[in-house]
Amino acid sequence: MDIVKDLRAIVGAEHVLTSALEAYETDWRGVFRGRALAVVLPADTTQVAAVVAACAASRVPIVTQGGNTGLVGGAVPDQSGRQILLSLKRMHRVRELDVQNATVTVEAGCVLQTVQHQADAAGLLFPLRLAAEGSCTIGGNLASNAGGTQVLRYGNARELCLGLEVVLPDGRIWNGLSGLRKDNSGYDLRQLYIGSEGTLGVITAAVLRLFPRPASMMMAWLSVPSAAAAIALHEHAQRQLGATLTAFELMGQAAVSLADRHFPHLRAPAPDSSPWFVLLEQSSDLPETLARPRFEAMLQAALEQRYINDALVAASIDQAQRLWHLREAIPLAQAREGFNLKHDIAVPVSGIAGFLDAVETTLRERLPDIRLILLGHVGDGNLHYNVQAPAGDDGAAILAQHQAWITGRIYDAVQAHGGSISAEHGVGAFKVAELAARKDAVALDLMRSIKQALDPLQLMNPGRMLTAAR
Ligand SMILES: Cc1cc2nc3c(=O)[nH]c(=O)nc-3n(C[C@H](O)[C@H](O)[C@H](O)COP(=O)(O)OP(=O)(O)OC[C@H]3O[C@@H](n4cnc5c(N)ncnc54)[C@H](O)[C@@H]3O)c2cc1C
Repeated sequence: MDIVKDLRAIVGAEHVLTSALEAYETDWRGVFRGRALAVVLPADTTQVAAVVAACAASRVPIVTQGGNTGLVGGAVPDQSGRQILLSLKRMHRVRELDVQNATVTVEAGCVLQTVQHQADAAGLLFPLRLAAEGSCTIGGNLASNAGGTQVLRYGNARELCLGLEVVLPDGRIWNGLSGLRKDNSGYDLRQLYIGSEGTLGVITAAVLRLFPRPASMMMAWLSVPSAAAAIALHEHAQRQLGATLTAFELMGQAAVSLADRHFPHLRAPAPDSSPWFVLLEQSSDLPETLARPRFEAMLQAALEQRYINDALVAASIDQAQRLWHLREAIPLAQAREGFNLKHDIAVPVSGIAGFLDAVETTLRERLPDIRLILLGHVGDGNLHYNVQAPAGDDGAAILAQHQAWITGRIYDAVQAHGGSISAEHGVGAFKVAELAARKDAVALDLMRSIKQALDPLQLMNPGRMLTAAR
């Protein structure tokens, strides 16, 4: 096709792939598989702009891909074979690290872990932390407004970004690479692009905020008698630790047991001993000798209040890392275990215990043997309400048969509790129909108006996030 010839002329023939594309065309979970016209790998922003302009001229749709770790099928093409897959993985330069301004400017294909390491080498912290950090990219993090385990203290990707460079759907480059903390000179276009999931343009670079590195970290693995106790513990820990509380991860017993079974070398502490576990982390400006008493006093009071039954305080960095790996291994264990349904949802923190009770009761009435793999960044009200096929040969068939009913009941309860059906993973292809059915009609109209204004040819990630009309 002519467009492929045009693209080869822009990025070089060796950077336009037309065969053996499966790794690009299949999402991380292996649930979404599409077919691309070609995979294009530009080297810089100018090439991205030229690729986008050529596609616009030929009316060829573009799906942008970073690390392809997204969980909602937003970064892989559809089945049409007409879409270009634009991979930014060659664009991984760190353009500038400004220690005094506490910012780093990176290209969108830069892997999150690289940014963390660069910040660390400068004695600073880039606090976005998630299990896919070894392969997800800054562009993907911003396009999906990633969350992760430190949102409680530092906010999600949206709050960690000061400036953007974006290639617009017509091929123009918007240079918004500002490192300013204050800039009220009009609409905040940066925030429009963050979380837009590739539907409004291609993020090519970003200015990210850095923070002072904590002097000490304390971490505890806690056995918690109930979800309500976990929420009470969260409130208690926030009062006692203030801004030094950096992580509060809730995990159900089935989730920890599953990770333990698939990753026994991580040595889960007594995985069957409690219905719930919490991984709690304090990061302090004070050295450990001064920070530890406050942490231990908080735990002691939590024991007395019966918010927790038992506490294991990590005795070394190694042990703390092993416990973090255990938490991060849960989605990997689910993938190994086989067919499961993922629901990345948010409800107000105060509603979490009631939500969990209500949904479990509803689901178990019809499917008593269903396996609920529950975990979440509870301080943000974000739950991963995951449902694994019941054990046994016909488990997957049972789950498949009831899939729509299960998801419907979970999302009904989310709405009844004033929540959101997409907390941090985005909408992608996965939730596009649910969003159209459940989001406020006026909000949907506004979103469609923005899409129409910025991408009138509907070429950027078409069919993702938004449907044409209700
Ligand atoms: C094991 C595991 C754990 C995870 N844990 C978390 C977690 O704790 N919190 C969380 O938020 N997410 C989590 N995720 C989901 C995923 O890692 C994040 O959404 C991540 O931010 C995606 O980055 P990526 O580079 O892989 O993006 P991709 O998957 O490549 O793309 C994601 C979306 O962004 C768009 N996009 C990508 N790059 C650009 C760009 N440069 N410009 C415009 N659009 C672009 C794509 O079109 C797609 O719609 C997890 C995933 C896995 C596999």
